[in-house]
Amino acid sequence: MAYPLQSLSFQTLFDAVADAMLLISDTGKVTEANTAALSLLGYTAQEIIGLPVEALVPQRYQAQHIKHRTKFAKNPEKRPMGSGNELAVLTKEGKELEVDIGLSPISYQEKPYTLVTFYTVAKRKSVEQALRISEESLRLAKKAAGLVVFDFDADLKMRDANKQLLTYWGAEPDQTEQNTEKNSSTVLPQIHPDDSAIRASALRHATDPLGNGELKVEYRIINPTTGDLRWISATGRAHFRDGRATRLLGVVRDITEQKIIEKKLQDQHAETETLFAKEVATQTASAIAHEINQPLTAISAYSEVALHALKQKVIDSASLKRALEGCVAQAQRAGSSLHELLSFLHKGEMTREQLDINNVVKEALVVAKSYGYSDFHPVLQLENNIRLVLGNKTQVLKIIVNLLRNAVEAMREAEIAPSEISITVRTNANINMAHVSVQDVGPGLNHEVAKHIFEPFFTTKSKGIGMGLAISRSLAEANGGQLWLDPDFKLGATFHFTLPFSP
Ligand code: ADP
Repeated sequence: MAYPLQSLSFQTLFDAVADAMLLISDTGKVTEANTAALSLLGYTAQEIIGLPVEALVPQRYQAQHIKHRTKFAKNPEKRPMGSGNELAVLTKEGKELEVDIGLSPISYQEKPYTLVTFYTVAKRKSVEQALRISEESLRLAKKAAGLVVFDFDADLKMRDANKQLLTYWGAEPDQTEQNTEKNSSTVLPQIHPDDSAIRASALRHATDPLGNGELKVEYRIINPTTGDLRWISATGRAHFRDGRATRLLGVVRDITEQKIIEKKLQDQHAETETLFAKEVATQTASAIAHEINQPLTAISAYSEVALHALKQKVIDSASLKRALEGCVAQAQRAGSSLHELLSFLHKGEMTREQLDINNVVKEALVVAKSYGYSDFHPVLQLENNIRLVLGNKTQVLKIIVNLLRNAVEAMREAEIAPSEISITVRTNANINMAHVSVQDVGPGLNHEVAKHIFEPFFTTKSKGIGMGLAISRSLAEANGGQLWLDPDFKLGATFHFTLPFSP
């Protein structure tokens, strides 16, 4: 039986190969050249066949080449030529091309030949160079941004000891030497005690196989020698295999300067906020006083008339009735004046729009942080693709920020180390509304306090004004929802509010 491939000639195969190949005789002459070799070197077959192979070698290498060729003839074996040295081949036009060369001895009719294959290195070189440039740009970018890379294994040990990172963590130069040599880490960051829970929680969440693997945390480092504090921001991503985190890779950055500026701004902001809140409270109180002063004076006058009528021996029921009716009318007037005042105060802010409540929650975290309420680790459970709600964005933001502020202040006041605050967003199917819950791990509230927290000006804080929850509740209601304290609070406090979905 005939095999079709048997009819393929050596020349056909030789010419079909993409790499340039020459067959060299034992006397060092070119006996065959494939199409790729002819096009690489710029010769015709007639011109190249019979040429001594040294004609293809740049002159400065020729003497050496003859020696190497004689050596190869004594011990022919399949191997790359030049073992790592840069090699060049000469074209007919005298141009030098950088190549890698492979040598394979072949025996035909008891005569030794060498098959020479040229691999052009220009492509490899350009890839290498592109890589070098990109590594260099990355290095420069890292340097400019003050970034240091970290690479941890599953046990959060450094995979490659990184001097810069160890120095960041407060290691002395000799410690970094030891660690670099051992290629492992014994120096652990000395984290500020108030921040270690936040960092641990962020690492736990990043390496949780059920999470998205993202790490983003800011914490303080204490230099063991000088006691100096520095703020570090770490951003990274965990890699998982077989349902387990195997690696945590990312960058750290010193953000101390930024934190100092932020703190200054926060202090200024807090000062203005307090002044503003006091101003608002004073103005509100005077507006209320203004609205109800007249009716109160009138009620007081009517009451005196009524008392006077009662003191008479013969009760003048007609004037008593008139006086009491006057009291009722004035009380109603006071009530409606207050309503008008409140609706006036609410006016203007009430443009409603379609909102992605998940995004508003994320924005509220940024706002809370900018107000100095960042010493907690947010745990977000946001229902994917939740329907859009209808509400006033500024007001909804205000509700969430108020709840976060209260949660942080409660934890701070009880001297609880910064911990988790869980924010859950879900569809409450019973009432067909978006339902947001904010849960802290602070001291919670006792029943006596819980009874009053929504009353205006009720506060247990030395610097509190007691309007936060009253305002938050009226904002939730103005937006068509409700706000309440979870009656079942056991650990910390949980507040809920609802918002209607956009039709
Ligand atoms: P303020 O914050 O000015 O005191 P609020 O109306 O926001 O005013 O809060 C009223 C009171 O409710 C607080 O003083 C505090 O006693 C209580 N409170 C609110 N939120 C929490 C919470 N998350 N944990 C414990 N107590 C809270």
